[in-house]
Amino acid sequence: MTETAALRTAPLRARAEIDLAALRANVRTLRALAPGAALMAVVKSDAYGHGAVRCARAAVQAGAAWLGTATPEEALVLRAAGLDDVRIMCWLWTPGGPWREAIEADLDVSVSGMWALREVTEAARQAGAPARVQLKADTGLGRGGCQPGDDWAELVGEALRAEADGLIRITGLWSHFACADEPGHPSIAAQLSRFREMVAYAEAQGARPEVRHIANSPATLTLPDSHFDLVRTGIATYGISPSPELGSPADFGLKPVMTLSASLALVKHVPGGHGVSYGHHYLTPGETTLGLVPLGYADGIPRHASGAGPVLVGGKWRTVAGRIAMDQFVVDLGGDEPEAGAEAVLFGPGDRGEPTAEDWAQAAGTIAYEIVTRIGTRVPRVYVNATTDATPDETGMRPRT
Ligand SMILES: *Cc1c(COP(=O)(O)O)cnc(C)c1O
Repeated sequence: MTETAALRTAPLRARAEIDLAALRANVRTLRALAPGAALMAVVKSDAYGHGAVRCARAAVQAGAAWLGTATPEEALVLRAAGLDDVRIMCWLWTPGGPWREAIEADLDVSVSGMWALREVTEAARQAGAPARVQLKADTGLGRGGCQPGDDWAELVGEALRAEADGLIRITGLWSHFACADEPGHPSIAAQLSRFREMVAYAEAQGARPEVRHIANSPATLTLPDSHFDLVRTGIATYGISPSPELGSPADFGLKPVMTLSASLALVKHVPGGHGVSYGHHYLTPGETTLGLVPLGYADGIPRHASGAGPVLVGGKWRTVAGRIAMDQFVVDLGGDEPEAGAEAVLFGPGDRGEPTAEDWAQAAGTIAYEIVTRIGTRVPRVYVNATTDATPDETGMRPRT
């Protein structure tokens, strides 16, 4: 991808530095928080914008026994990249999906309803090999998953018949929370007891799952009762707290993995009363300097953060002046005169005084998940601390492979 090209053309317009040592440390921290469970690193949507294959490899190195994706296509990419010694599960299927490829790639596939069970058993018959199937229960999220009651009884019954016929193996029973990021929300206890009932029913009928699981990042961090056999951590793997109300990343011993920065494309003096960017929503309050940041909404910088997003330039927080455009935005540097090419840091772990993805989420009225996930393909990912061998890292040479 863009990585190699970008490394040949330093300095970069903009870069998303991905600290794989931070990612590995996060995985170890999360495993220690859920010591009785295996860990699934959720790497859907290109690892929340961080780069799926690189992050998946780092997570496996740090002890993730499972990888999780939304779509089967995302999961197949991981196998094709040589991630062989790890279980991979994908859960977002539509009719006509690549069931046969999934069976041949040894993926665990989620089944929420009868149409999917019919398609996967048919594909297994054609492949001549059993599919690993995880039955998904809707314990109250009201999104995917099989409804409790008659629907669950029918799905479990048919799945057990397919298992007896050697067409599938029921490897998991699982569900997903609606409000795990709001500790004490009554739906949490309700979902947990519904999950226990639905698992107990399936096991009483004869299901022998390897893993039962319901915990996402917020549940992994705050709800030990929800850990069961496996925890599925997405956002926390990338060092971001699921919600500022739960705590900061540091409160959980997590470190943000992505640092997004750019090189100023221009610094110039302007008089007071000068309109800035489309619509002139910012007027310079007096004579000042403006810095041009070469990133825009095409790169995933939210236009809703116009007039609000924070940027660290020369040790000071500056604010987006006026509208964020497709490819660029402006900051008022208040008379400072950094050179063109000076670094502007939009967000990172915060340990150099820079804003965080959470700060951008607040500026844009969204969640930090959306900030990192939407960073576009035009921004090269630059991987640092890729090797577990400490020697080159500590010389500051930042191995990039
Ligand atoms: C995205 C996702 C996760 C991970 O959620 P986080 O809140 O990022 O930890 C877990 N399970 C399922 C089914 C998901 O879709």
